[in-house]
Amino acid sequence: MTIKHEVPSYLTQHGIGPWGDYLEQIDRVTPYLGNLARWVETMKRPKRMLIVDVPIERDDGTIAHFEGYRVQHNTSRGPGKGGVRFHQDVTLSEVMALSAWMTVKNAAVNVPYGGAKGGIRVDPKTLSQGELQRMTRRYTSEIGIIIGPNKDIPAPDVNTNEQIMAWMMDTYSMNQGSTASGVVTGKPISLGGSLGRREATGRGVFVVGCEAAVKRGLNIHGAKVAVQGFGNVGGIAARLFAEAGAKVVAVQDHISTVMRSSGLDVAALQAHVNETGSVAGFRGGEEVSDRAQFWAVDCDILVPAALEQQITVENAPTIRAKIILEGANGPTSPAADDILHEKGVLVVPDVIANAGGVTVSYFEWVQDFSSFFWTEDEINLRLTRIMREAFTAVWQLAEEKKVSLRTAAFIVACTRVLQAREMRGLYP
Ligand code: NAD
Repeated sequence: MTIKHEVPSYLTQHGIGPWGDYLEQIDRVTPYLGNLARWVETMKRPKRMLIVDVPIERDDGTIAHFEGYRVQHNTSRGPGKGGVRFHQDVTLSEVMALSAWMTVKNAAVNVPYGGAKGGIRVDPKTLSQGELQRMTRRYTSEIGIIIGPNKDIPAPDVNTNEQIMAWMMDTYSMNQGSTASGVVTGKPISLGGSLGRREATGRGVFVVGCEAAVKRGLNIHGAKVAVQGFGNVGGIAARLFAEAGAKVVAVQDHISTVMRSSGLDVAALQAHVNETGSVAGFRGGEEVSDRAQFWAVDCDILVPAALEQQITVENAPTIRAKIILEGANGPTSPAADDILHEKGVLVVPDVIANAGGVTVSYFEWVQDFSSFFWTEDEINLRLTRIMREAFTAVWQLAEEKKVSLRTAAFIVACTRVLQAREMRGLYP
């Protein structure tokens, strides 16, 4: 009798995926790294990858197993840092790429971290709250051997939030016998979370969006904005653009697309999503069934804030925006990047555009260590300053070297990481 086995997803089942996009980005930057290029292979090899089995007892008494990952791509400049994603399409390739983009991002905005990322291949919407908690706790226990406030600090990402971070912090603390607030960021305020963290990524997208608009001579007031993904990042970015007088003309999520050329009521849309879980069925706009229409919408600023590999050679030629702000990680394929560049679209890359989240995560971690908490105004001021400085430095380098903002950001980041690598030297 032949027994059929499911092929584990970390084998060849999913191909090279987003990790391939990342490798191509590294190849593009290598000619600009001078003597440091001899270390570039470091960027192409994650330092440490852990694949864990996450078994839970379901509410009906059956046992379910999920595949979990934690990848520490690089720790040359400090502990690993990066979110945890719960999604049915999570693969090792995806977590590898996301961890590597964290290395680049943390170095690009100069926070003292390496890069890491984690995830579980699960659709969390199919779990009860109890099941979700048991899965989160078991996963945390399994990766507990490599995370820690000085080793690797997880944070929220797609489908994870403050509650998940609270369970992770508690599980890690229970295992070690004392409360370790600094083991995760994005925690509830009552557990050592930071004011402004929940909004930080979307706020950072908005701040660099304003900088990019100045460079393009675009007035935010009255500008047309389209947002893909209406979760933590997309929802907040849309709100801030609307508050600044922009018109949010299209929003797409995992289920539907809504459009309104005179501008959607973002607060009403958020209330609808909070209640129903999706933009689908929102009455304040026209629901469009052809998802491809989202990319071709008449807009000035496009904010992909959902998942990676969304802007491709198929839809890039249809894009009408002047500016793309990458709220998501890795939303644009390298081939699509080339098309956008030729069309004169200004792409503010993920490693700058969405770095607001990790920046305020850094503030949270610092506050936890010092047990001294800052005001929201202080946090937003420091966040704005760091985002502007990072944008300006990358802009100037891009002009000087005549390269895209992405390549410039990668030059800044890879130089910092590989300099640290070189100065530390190889052990033993
Ligand atoms: P989230 O879970 O809060 O929201 C995700 C949103 O994307 C939801 O609105 C969902 O409906 C939508 N979505 C999912 N699949 C989609 C699809 N196929 N097409 C269109 N929409 C889809 O997640 P988030 O925290 O907002 O993260 C979004 C992106 O931003 C991810 O790429 C994440 O890595 C990146 N990011 C998040 C943070 C953070 O602080 N949360 C920081 C930096 C980068």
